[in-house]
Amino acid sequence: MTNKAAAVLDPAQFDPVQTGFFRFRKLGKRFLVTNDFGRYCFMDDEVFQKFVAGKLDKESDLYGRLARDGFIRDHMDFDAQVAGWRSRHAFLWQGPSLHVVVVTLRCNHRCLYCQTTAESMAGRETDMRQETAKKVVDRIFESTSPAITIEFQGGEPLVNWPVVKFIVEYARKKNRKAKKHLWINLVSNLTLMDDAKFKFLFDNQVNFCTSLDGPADLHDKNRVFAGGSSHAQTVKWFRKIYQKTLRKMFRIEALLTVTRFSLTRHKDIVDEYVKLGCRGVFMRSLSPLGLAREVWDKIGYTADEFLDFYRKAFDYVLEVNKKKPFFEQNARIFLTKIMTDTDPNFLDIRSPCGAGIGQVAYNFDGGVYACDEGRMLSRMGDETFRLGHVAKDGYQATVGHPVIKAISVASCLDNQVSCSRCAYKPYCGVCPVHCYAEQGDIMGRMPSSTLCKIHMGILDHLFEKLDDEKNERVFRKWIKQASDRTSYQRK
Ligand code: SF4
Ligand code: SF4
Ligand code: SF4
Repeated sequence: MTNKAAAVLDPAQFDPVQTGFFRFRKLGKRFLVTNDFGRYCFMDDEVFQKFVAGKLDKESDLYGRLARDGFIRDHMDFDAQVAGWRSRHAFLWQGPSLHVVVVTLRCNHRCLYCQTTAESMAGRETDMRQETAKKVVDRIFESTSPAITIEFQGGEPLVNWPVVKFIVEYARKKNRKAKKHLWINLVSNLTLMDDAKFKFLFDNQVNFCTSLDGPADLHDKNRVFAGGSSHAQTVKWFRKIYQKTLRKMFRIEALLTVTRFSLTRHKDIVDEYVKLGCRGVFMRSLSPLGLAREVWDKIGYTADEFLDFYRKAFDYVLEVNKKKPFFEQNARIFLTKIMTDTDPNFLDIRSPCGAGIGQVAYNFDGGVYACDEGRMLSRMGDETFRLGHVAKDGYQATVGHPVIKAISVASCLDNQVSCSRCAYKPYCGVCPVHCYAEQGDIMGRMPSSTLCKIHMGILDHLFEKLDDEKNERVFRKWIKQASDRTSYQRK
């Protein structure tokens, strides 16, 4: 028990026979109580003390709810709780489903925060060759996962269009025999899109994901493009693709990278997404990788500054919901974990994380990495997260690589001292690549981790909002929508 916990909880009062294992956090005047089955309950001080001491009225509705949710030790329905836990962790039994393919490192943009540190358009040394692409697709289909997502990343993938086209056609052909659930995502700035490329991608049911950092002035400040306004090009194609894919299972999504320039612009950003007809907005914080690390003094911020922005933007998103459903994606990921027995399959927020067991990244030269962020570190000369080469190392050697085992141990929250005691453990995740880049150790130290502080701040805000039935109804709608597939869900 921590000192803070001891201040509100008297160990002498604890009834170890009736009261099941729980963690708690004080939010305002209420106690948030959670357990490893992912259940939660708010209690005021008096009820909390009775719960701890095993003195709740056994005939009360609250006692019934706590018993059903696995908080009462002598009324534990283990079969039901284990079924829920198993459903939440179904990803552990599947094998890698997300396969990130970097078809080139070249790009026509020079975004201030580019994590991948893109190469200039000159030269083709960093374009994937067709022989390598074929080996990559063959490897992808060795995965035991019944669902496969191939995600094109770069650089700008459309720069190496012949290989994008080859991979789409070859993967579709292979899948006629393999009969997996095959999804293909293109992550692109869209400025090299044209009608012929779009027709091919549309006919092959490719999902699109692009970056939109807000209104034109903000977007173009972050996303530098020598060919004119990046915003104008991106929005033009976003609108066209959005209209064409309106009632399709594949579609276009946009996401935002928050820089220092975004911090005062939460309304403008949300309004821009609403204006374009987006179903929501994904407010991603900067990662200390690639160019972002080099220019952190100019575009970076503290966790507190990000959280101040996030809370304002989130509250504004709730305002928008008075007129139409519109979600925030970080919140939707966490809320799906909090309010259902389903994992939203977002590989960066789960325990253990998705590196190697849910995701594999293939570099332009055939190098294989535990995840795309691990591959980005290799651009900074650090090969810590490399698993091998697609032509030299077999599937078993790759998925059974010691690096994957180390990342799994490091991202399993039971192994993190702070996380194992945190009320948010059932819903949270740590990123070993982020810990390594920020603190020099994949195990990380949560008390000084920026990402931990951001997750804790977001979860504090969400639970405070969740303690209000009006908001809960809004959140249920977001989660229902989430059962639809989205490309940035990264399945
Ligand atoms: S962030 Fe994407 S679009 Fe921007 S420079 Fe990097 S690869 Fe290009
Ligand atoms: S190491 Fe980090 S970026 Fe890579 S899959 Fe895990 S959480 Fe995601
Ligand atoms: S990362 Fe931070 S917020 Fe998340 S479970 Fe660990 S200690 Fe809690």
